[in-house]
Amino acid sequence: MDPNKVIAVKDSGNPIPKDQLHPFISGYVDGSIDDATMTRLLRSIYDHGMERDEIYTLVDVMIHSGRQMDFSHLDGFVADKHSIGGVGDKISLILTPLLASAGLYIPMIAGRSLGHTGGTLDKLETIPGFSTAISMDEFQMMVGKIGCGMMSQSDEICPADGKIYALRDVTGTIASVPLICGSIMSKKIAEGIQGLVLDIKIGNGSFMPTLEKGKVLGAMLKDVGEHFGVTTDLVFSNMDQPLGRFSGMWCEVREAMDCLNGKGPVDTMAVTLKLASKLMVQSGLSKDENSSNHTLNELIQNGQAMEKFHQFIEAQSGNLDGANNEPKFKTDVCAASDGIIQSMDTTTIGWGLTDMGCGRRHKDDILDPSAGLECIKKIGDTVQEGDVIFRCFCSDEDKLEKGVAQISNAVSIGSDPVKVDLFYN
Ligand code: URA
Repeated sequence: MDPNKVIAVKDSGNPIPKDQLHPFISGYVDGSIDDATMTRLLRSIYDHGMERDEIYTLVDVMIHSGRQMDFSHLDGFVADKHSIGGVGDKISLILTPLLASAGLYIPMIAGRSLGHTGGTLDKLETIPGFSTAISMDEFQMMVGKIGCGMMSQSDEICPADGKIYALRDVTGTIASVPLICGSIMSKKIAEGIQGLVLDIKIGNGSFMPTLEKGKVLGAMLKDVGEHFGVTTDLVFSNMDQPLGRFSGMWCEVREAMDCLNGKGPVDTMAVTLKLASKLMVQSGLSKDENSSNHTLNELIQNGQAMEKFHQFIEAQSGNLDGANNEPKFKTDVCAASDGIIQSMDTTTIGWGLTDMGCGRRHKDDILDPSAGLECIKKIGDTVQEGDVIFRCFCSDEDKLEKGVAQISNAVSIGSDPVKVDLFYN
């Protein structure tokens, strides 16, 4: 296989045959194809797209870059959830232990920051000792024992996604239907799950800003799921402003714990329960969304969901008592005039957070566990000049200044009443 010829096929808008795509991806995983060559292929896929069968092949090749998990010996329903990425999106941290406390098995391969969006694993690693680099056998045993776990792609499982994901993050090749399908579906299918729910974020903080684009991506993700025998449901949720009250690193873990303690923000709980209900119904544990909400709210009220969270954190060597992620510096972003908040430029907010230490502009950027923001006002809220809209914080004064400079320009205030819908049909 000649990598230049493969790239030329895609550059001319044609499908890449399996016997060419397979050695290209394997070559990137084993290091015989370098980042620059892989970036050229990613850009070409980004520009020219892929046909349906070609996407199936991409997913298949990526799954088989590593081993696959096997939970066929378990007596319960094995499922997972994935989001296409957002700002303040801490749903996985809540939903995973919540569903495990209901009796589902959730073996989640989660992601790191991608572009302007935060990463579940980065947030979890703000807990001292928490390990995401677990061997597959150990992970499978843990999921069998406590019902859930979260790990990253590794040399053993989905190494192709591990490497390509990190490269897409810094090469502007994220918002591509085939590349998102390859990335999400390869790791989900390699988990050996029976059911999946996908949170397709729509809005100015998502890689899919319009419902039209989100529907195209959602349809392809569902199609791939079902092609590989995984029941796949979709939820289209709003990403026109950060989700919940906190966005960032440790502050999101703390907010997830508030949710599991029954004190979560309304938007975050609504999205969590909607996504969770899809898997509760798929598993047969609930007959519909109402009965799922009833069961899951009870697990929150009686403390079992929170207990499961603690079990999961301890099983992965995390020490919540040792978490001390107090930021050294804080700056408020205030309303420039009286009025009603009309909109937030959520991607700009995400990049501001990235520059404060919540994400990566370069592959080896070091993250700051104390970094984040509190979203004190939301779209539709009335403000007076000088009211605090965001409280931004981290432990590096220069980074804080850089982040705040962007976040300060992200809010528009006007006079019209505004209503935000949390979900799209
Ligand atoms: N999440 C992933 O795992 N991959 C993507 O490409 C986007 C979101």
